[in-house]
Amino acid sequence: MEKMPYAEPYKIKMIESIKQTTKEERIEKIEQAGLNLFNLKAEDVFVDLLTDSGTGAMSDKQWSAMMTGDESYAGSKSFHLMKDTINNLTGFEFVLPTHQGRAAENVLFSALIKEGNVIPGNSHSDTTKGHIEFRKAVAVDCTIDEAGDPSIMHPFKGNVNIEKLEKAIVDAGAGNVPCVILTITCNSGGGQPVSMENIKAVSAVCAKYNVPLIFDSARFAENAYFIKVREEGYAEKTIKEIVKEAFGYGAGMTMSSKKDAIVNMGGFIAINDEKLYQACSTFNIMFEGYLTYGGMSGRDMAALAAGLMEGTEFDYLNSRIKQVEYLGERLDEAGIPVLKPFGGHAIFIDAKKFLPHIPQSQYPAQVLGVELYKEAGVRGVEIGTVLADRDPVTRENRYPKLELLRLAIPRRVYTNNHMEVVVWGCKKVMENRHNLRGLDITYEAPIMRHFTSRFKTL
Ligand SMILES: *Cc1c(COP(=O)(O)O)cnc(C)c1O
Repeated sequence: MEKMPYAEPYKIKMIESIKQTTKEERIEKIEQAGLNLFNLKAEDVFVDLLTDSGTGAMSDKQWSAMMTGDESYAGSKSFHLMKDTINNLTGFEFVLPTHQGRAAENVLFSALIKEGNVIPGNSHSDTTKGHIEFRKAVAVDCTIDEAGDPSIMHPFKGNVNIEKLEKAIVDAGAGNVPCVILTITCNSGGGQPVSMENIKAVSAVCAKYNVPLIFDSARFAENAYFIKVREEGYAEKTIKEIVKEAFGYGAGMTMSSKKDAIVNMGGFIAINDEKLYQACSTFNIMFEGYLTYGGMSGRDMAALAAGLMEGTEFDYLNSRIKQVEYLGERLDEAGIPVLKPFGGHAIFIDAKKFLPHIPQSQYPAQVLGVELYKEAGVRGVEIGTVLADRDPVTRENRYPKLELLRLAIPRRVYTNNHMEVVVWGCKKVMENRHNLRGLDITYEAPIMRHFTSRFKTL
């Protein structure tokens, strides 16, 4: 007998209509938006793959948890429910709620990081790096070299190069390294996992130099999924067992709950050191809110607790990551140049290969994003020269090695038929690619220009 076909471990109880527009309408909308996908109205997008952050669909259990939310200012029942869930799942004892992931970074780093510090890690997330550099400290990327080469297949491209890490700590002086930040999954190359073996090795280096290991854990459950299916010795373990083991090697975590906790807004810090917790508490009260709500409603904390439990179920993760893989494989079959191995939450199209006739100075990944929207109403996001911004001193464009269009998939939101629309759109752009021309920027902000820039076709 053939194996039973695979399907999502849920059915749909509520739907939200999305609107298909004509190509003529989309051309007009994107022109009005200055050829910047961020400027579009979301209702003019058919399949929105801008981000997987806060865009997931909550379950019936999460929605019913919302109704039980306790909105007490201090000591809310929902806070304790969330705290108990985090304690059980991660093993970390002290929990501070925050309104999202970057707020957790702001609070923790206010207590931890001083001017001149060095914070090694594996390709720090943009907000993490921002919060480090804002404090005049330096983020050192110690990711393995294989991560930067899209032609290399490696099961754990988020891994840290242990020699680089040790060198970064020794060069800075251990006393000048307030923590090591391990991002699981790693952002470089789009949600590439870190193996348990590597987590252990990083933890051992941290122990040797007495430096706390902090996990930036937005996609910790997706990381655990990859450990289960790719790393020897973990196939029989549950996701929750793997999560507990991984966090057991660290001193604490920051969390953007908009990713693997499948809520639309929320975050937290969880740590073991009581003194650090006390130091963070002061900043939490100043920046976020009182210790038992920190920028979240009681109902949001109740939904978050339920989301953490669902987000660490194997069947859910399997359906999630299989959908990302499905899109990647279908694009690959169609001859669209995609980065491999596929990450946990997004597929990346290589715009330099897709549009070889458009130089990097004319923003090929932006061109690709605009054209995909025009053809199919699909919205991705440029991860290339526009995002890389200008050198703060010379004001010249910075040219990253890779020029990418990211297609990030929201959790439990779209079907594989929607993925087929994406593939169809990419094929249409492919057919017409030789006629496409580069872009010039007509307006840009002094920093973080990608959100608001406007472009014209050359
Ligand atoms: C999203 C994310 C953040 C920031 O979290 P927000 O909730 O967007 O503030 C930090 N680190 C990683 C790895 C992330 O994915």
